[in-house]
Amino acid sequence: MVYNFNSGPSILPQEVLEGAAAAIRDFNGTGLSILEIGHRTKAFEAVVEESASILRELMRLDSEKEVLFLHGGATTQFFQVPMNLLDENGKAAYLDCGIWGSKAIREAGLFGKVEVVASSADRRHTYIPRGYEVPSDAAYLHVTTNNTVEGTQMWEFPQAGVPLVADMSSDILSREMDFNRFSLIYAGAQKNIGVAGVTVVVVDRRMLGRVSRRLPAMMDYRNHIENRSLLNTPPVFAIYVCLLTLRWLRKQGGLSVLEQANRDKAALLYEALESSAVFVPTVEKPDRSHMNVVFVTRQPSQEEAFLELCRREGIVGVKGHRSMGGLRASLYNAMPVSHVRHLIELMRHFERGS
Ligand code: PMP
Repeated sequence: MVYNFNSGPSILPQEVLEGAAAAIRDFNGTGLSILEIGHRTKAFEAVVEESASILRELMRLDSEKEVLFLHGGATTQFFQVPMNLLDENGKAAYLDCGIWGSKAIREAGLFGKVEVVASSADRRHTYIPRGYEVPSDAAYLHVTTNNTVEGTQMWEFPQAGVPLVADMSSDILSREMDFNRFSLIYAGAQKNIGVAGVTVVVVDRRMLGRVSRRLPAMMDYRNHIENRSLLNTPPVFAIYVCLLTLRWLRKQGGLSVLEQANRDKAALLYEALESSAVFVPTVEKPDRSHMNVVFVTRQPSQEEAFLELCRREGIVGVKGHRSMGGLRASLYNAMPVSHVRHLIELMRHFERGS
């Protein structure tokens, strides 16, 4: 048995893995593998349509929103967003709360003026800033709703007075929220929605066509909308795994049920960290992520010893991001509470031996 706490690609529901394996052998009784079917077929068009429709239902999207399945990861959205929404003479507001947000800031600067309205860099990104002003002439405010590396999550969203754009790569579909507040949402699928290779974008079509720059066809969201995510050959298999995961998420009872389960799992682990003599959570209490729990050991030497114990006990993925060090346990939707309990037991066992 392996307990997978990886930050992404990450744990998938067993049912999804089995469905994906079956479709590799025979996709829906067609006699062809999902790896062999054409993307411009009725069977695959139905996969894209159903995926978009479950996503719309789970997120309760209004009729102005378009759902797209694109390539290039969230990293491509770092520049595709400003290409489509930020004019050369325009300005965009960004929140700087960690490594991914700072990459988005860098890319946006290639296309227009960027104003960083608040940053948590002063305390190593261990909190989410509050009480900042957003210029009213900004084309949008960009936020990262969950900082995968640093372990912070936004629990309140500013009334910015300008369109909100969010990188939700590491917490999309993990909690209930008013998704219609956002003019554009993007997320790499490899944490909560499926496997690497596809990026989900939800965009309010009223935001598009406002910039004067000419765009390569692949970069223009309007082309993807018109072609229903089939502008070129899409990542067929990755989209199919999304569909299986989305069906699974819906079967769990929707976002409020998932949110409660995620809150309970995170609470167990944070409580264990709070009461530990060895492990210390790094993030300030109100801003702690339910997806990525980041912590350190009191003595640096304990870290390697704990990781060694994890390796022996089949626990993988608890080493922190290479930029941060420390430890991190990722508890995405598919993570069962029993795995979190197992990690806590191992932490207690380690403490007794220290
Ligand atoms: N944003 C966030 C919040 C992430 O966690 C990640 C990946 N871990 C990215 C962006 C980059 O995503 P990708 O590798 O899909 O480009």
